[in-house]
Amino acid sequence: MTTVFTIASGKGGTGKTTVTANLGSMLAYHKKRTYIIDADMGMANLGLILGLDGMPVTLHDVLAGEASVKEAAYPGPFGVTVVPSGLSLEGFKNSDPERLRDVMSELIGECDILIIDAPAGINHDGIVPLAIADEVILVVNPDLSSIVDALKTKMLTEFIGGKVRGAIINRVTSVDDTITKDQIENMLSVPIIGMIPEDVNVRRASANRMPVVAKYPTSEASRAFRRISSSLTGVH
Ligand code: ADP
Ligand code: MG
Repeated sequence: MTTVFTIASGKGGTGKTTVTANLGSMLAYHKKRTYIIDADMGMANLGLILGLDGMPVTLHDVLAGEASVKEAAYPGPFGVTVVPSGLSLEGFKNSDPERLRDVMSELIGECDILIIDAPAGINHDGIVPLAIADEVILVVNPDLSSIVDALKTKMLTEFIGGKVRGAIINRVTSVDDTITKDQIENMLSVPIIGMIPEDVNVRRASANRMPVVAKYPTSEASRAFRRISSSLTGVH
């Protein structure tokens, strides 16, 4: 059985792509057959941070009806399968987000877990990933605007019949005592799946085109990703 998670936020820059890359890699490490798909077609970053940009066939070609998803799939860290998006504006223009439904049907049964990195905002290309997921995971930072935007995304998901599994609080700092985990949980009314600290190793790993869990496995951020991966799968 395949479980489809969509990583969403509302606000941009909260860490969706980082969570997708690291969670996907960890799940693959735990022997789950895992696909990660860059559905942020306009601001494609997933391939970039995994050293898989400039690939000949991308999700753009798939969503333009010109390639199958398997042709746009590449091996990534720990054996995760990565479907990057293209970087061209032309490719973005020709992509039909509705075709994501076909991509999903093609991969159901082919893998254990499918993670979709969603775009920010609530445009059409962002709604399809919310609608097709078994469970949406919100990524928020401990700041008010990101929480309010995540709340909007949660309401939109439920409005279109989707389900929110919970939220990951990313970029938590020890000095940040303005908004607490409990407050975020109350504001969003969803369980907090995990907390990831602000950790310079995340950006250092990206600069090396690797997920932090592979490049700096003992870092604080990597520990947090391992905990989240275990709590999602029950594998320790
Ligand atoms: P999104 O996909 O939501 O736009 P990204 O995953 O691209 O966000 O993250 C935005 C920026 O924040 C990137 O430069 C990323 O390396 C950095 N970042 C994300 N999470 C962390 C973290 N826990 N610690 C430090 N930097 C982080
Ligand atoms: Mg992103």
